[in-house]
Amino acid sequence: MYLKTLTMRGFKSFASATTLQLEPGITCIVGPNGSGKSNVVDALAWVMGEQGVKSLRGGKMEDVIFAGTSGRSPLGRAEVQLTIDNADGALPIEYAEVTISRTMFRNGGSEYAINGQGCRLLDVQELLSDSGIGREMHVIVGQGQLDSILHATPEDRRGFIEEAAGVLKHRKRKEKALRKLDATEANLHRLADLTTEIR
Ligand code: ATP
Repeated sequence: MYLKTLTMRGFKSFASATTLQLEPGITCIVGPNGSGKSNVVDALAWVMGEQGVKSLRGGKMEDVIFAGTSGRSPLGRAEVQLTIDNADGALPIEYAEVTISRTMFRNGGSEYAINGQGCRLLDVQELLSDSGIGREMHVIVGQGQLDSILHATPEDRRGFIEEAAGVLKHRKRKEKALRKLDATEANLHRLADLTTEIR
């Protein structure tokens, strides 16, 4: 599995559609300060479902939409498409190529799609969760983030390891199942009370 193509349109400084063709192995992006290198990394995190505005170096989520320059008006939406080569079947989906896309409008939330089919954020997260490029973005290490990983609490460190090992998805599912069990137990208690009252 490797990241094959990244297309940004209306995302941060990339007002016009911009496509990066990536190859297996190491890719280096070089450019002057402020030319948009980190924005490319932000686009990767964003299309994979990043929800934290701070991780995207903004104040609010709509800051990812091209805000305009002296020569160009702001845009109303941001779009990013990421195509992943899945010839080795690392992603649990029966396609040799998987395209994840995320679109956000200035007045609303995000829309996600997998291979052109609209889907939920959860579907994107689940697709990626065992691949090592999941939602928590521990494989995307931004400037200064290395320090925060080195100074992380033991709990946070455990979280990194769990995500890398693919445990996080099951932990989340377990938490959800436990919440449902609690709610069911509360309903059962309520039912027992009602039965006693009726008798
Ligand atoms: P450095 O080498 O200094 O870290 P960089 O190449 O990583 O720089 P970025 O941080 O990716 O640069 O890009 C910063 C540029 O992106 C700034 O010029 C900023 O104005 C522009 N930018 C960020 N968000 C938006 C937006 N929503 N609309 C338009 N431009 C934006």
